Amino acid sequence: MKEINCLRCGVPMQFMKKTHIQFGKTGWILGDLPNLVAGALPVEIYICPTCMKLEFFATENGVVEEDALPQKTCPKCGAVHDFDYPKCPICKYDYYEEK
Ligand SMILES: [Zn+2]
Ligand SMILES: [Zn+2]
Repeated sequence: MKEINCLRCGVPMQFMKKTHIQFGKTGWILGDLPNLVAGALPVEIYICPTCMKLEFFATENGVVEEDALPQKTCPKCGAVHDFDYPKCPICKYDYYEEK
């Protein structure tokens, strides 16, 4: 967690939660970020208790502090990999493809 003061109020912002932003759906939040890999970006959300302003901080792509990324198992080839791959890195199985 970081120590951040609200730019407007100067009071410490409170850590709200760690989440993932899915590219392609919520691009309006981080529209100016360069196109990182497709998929989800891990972010930390802080909120100002006074003016309720939200701040998003990207954690380093693919590196989540404290807890490791959850893993998932490819249903096609059985490889275990970080869950935020949109496709299996081994066999290219596409998790988002409509069945
Ligand atoms: Zn504020
Ligand atoms: Zn696979």
